[in-house]
Amino acid sequence: MKAIFNKFLNLNNLGFLIIGIAVFGLISYINYRFYGVEKMIAQSEAQMAVSNNQNQKKIKEIYDLINNTQSTQSSIASVLEQEKQKNSILNDQFSEITNTVGALEKLSTTDPELLKKYSKVYFLNEHYIPVSLAEVPAEYRDEQSVNYQFLTDALPFLQELIDAGNSDGVSIKAFSAYRSFATQSTLKDAYKVAYGSGANTFSADQGYSEHQLGTALDFTTSKTSGILVGFSHTPEYKWLVDNGYKYGFVISYPDGNAYYKFEPWHWRFVGVALATRLHEENKYFYDEDQRTIDNYLVNIFDK
Ligand SMILES: [Zn+2]
Repeated sequence: MKAIFNKFLNLNNLGFLIIGIAVFGLISYINYRFYGVEKMIAQSEAQMAVSNNQNQKKIKEIYDLINNTQSTQSSIASVLEQEKQKNSILNDQFSEITNTVGALEKLSTTDPELLKKYSKVYFLNEHYIPVSLAEVPAEYRDEQSVNYQFLTDALPFLQELIDAGNSDGVSIKAFSAYRSFATQSTLKDAYKVAYGSGANTFSADQGYSEHQLGTALDFTTSKTSGILVGFSHTPEYKWLVDNGYKYGFVISYPDGNAYYKFEPWHWRFVGVALATRLHEENKYFYDEDQRTIDNYLVNIFDK
């Protein structure tokens, strides 16, 4: 009985031992696993720290790169800006030179005779012919007009003047414009036949040579058609005195002038700038010195 009991006891002990070992093993195993997990976590954490560190490094590199790029960009921009400024200075200089060249070119192609003062000692050459002549359109001419050609570049100014007069209620007409030297001589001969030696004060060479320029003309009105005498008493004459300069026209021989007999109908195109200056200074073309007048040649056809 005792033996059985002991056996049982032994068995029991063995059982306990086995259970104990099993429990120990299990605990060890759990510990081991737990330790493994812990280790894994630690490893992952370490790895994460490393990769985090690397990422931060990379981010920093990217930031540096961005900063560098930005500073490069801004220095490129400032270089570009400097170049632009240089370019704009060059452009200004270039356009200045172009303007000067343009003015010189304009001056070289502008007939200097157009602003010359004529007198007994300085007169237009008998072979002189204007650069280009155009016909004054019929609506701007008097019905009985003769010699109705005008310098092509000055014609628009004449038309504007007559149009403006019409708008203001006066009826100005071109009566006689361009006359060649031959026409002029014939006319003078005719005057001589009619007036004898008196023709010298009525039709002196220097006075009428302005007609040979193509920029001088005699005006009349549609009311007095062809009759020049008495023109100074017409509203058309008054209008011309007040407004002619705006279109570049001046009276060559005003009342009481020292050069020639009063010719209220005889006007000459000298350009808007010069005509305006003379009007403002209450001067006449032949009062101004030639040197001053010549400064206006380059802009004679400017509006
Ligand atoms: Zn005339």
